[in-house]
Amino acid sequence: MLNNFLSLFLKDNCPLCQRTAEKIICSYCQQKIDLCQLDSSQELTSDNFLIFAWGKYDGTLKRAIASLKYNGNRNLGVLMGQWLGKKWLDSGNKEKYKKLTVIPIPLHPEKLKQRGFNQAELIARGFTRITGYSLKPNLLQRVKDTTAMFGLNPSARKKNISKAFEIGKDLATINKSYPTLIVDDIYTTGTTVNEARQVLTKHKLLSVGVATLSKVNSE
Ligand SMILES: [Zn+2]
Repeated sequence: MLNNFLSLFLKDNCPLCQRTAEKIICSYCQQKIDLCQLDSSQELTSDNFLIFAWGKYDGTLKRAIASLKYNGNRNLGVLMGQWLGKKWLDSGNKEKYKKLTVIPIPLHPEKLKQRGFNQAELIARGFTRITGYSLKPNLLQRVKDTTAMFGLNPSARKKNISKAFEIGKDLATINKSYPTLIVDDIYTTGTTVNEARQVLTKHKLLSVGVATLSKVNSE
C-alpha cells in the first residue's frame, strides 16, 4: 500500500533541493533528514502523558516542515506522518495502545483559509494510514486566532493559547471508549498540547499523549 501511494508522486522534483526525486524527497535530503531522528523518541511526563517525537526541530527536518507549511507541499506532510507512524510501530506502541482516536491540533478557520490545509492534519493522515487508528480532524476546533508562539516567553505563550480550543463536531461520531492521541508538527514547551488536552478532559475524553513530527530541544 505504501509503495502504491508513493508511486503516485514519482518523478516530481525534491521540494528541498529541486533535484529529481523518486519518492517525494530525494535520497540526498532523505539522508540528511534521517540524521534529525531522535534516538530516544518518547518520554512520559510526571502525570503519565506520553510525548512521542520523530525528530528534533533542526536542520533539514526544520526546512522540510517549513516547505510543507509555506510552499504548500501537502504530499510531504502525509509522507512525514508515515515516518511518524512507522516509528510508532517500531517502538511497540501499537501493542500498548491498540485503539486510539487521533486528533490533529486544529488551525483557526482564517488561517486554514490562507494556507489551504492544516499541516498537523496531513501528518495525522499519514500517521493513521500506517497505524490504522481512527482520524478525527474535527474533534477539536480552534476558536481563537493566536499569533505564532515562537519568540514568546512561557507566560505569554500561555496567555496566547488560553481558551484557543473548543470541542468540535466529531464528538458525535467518535467511540468515546477509545483514548485520544494528539498529533502536531512541532512540539516546544507543551503549552498548546496542554490547552487541547484540557478541552478533551472537560468532555471526559482521556488523552494518552502527543505524537509530534519534531521536538524543539529544551535545555
Ligand atoms: Zn533533495
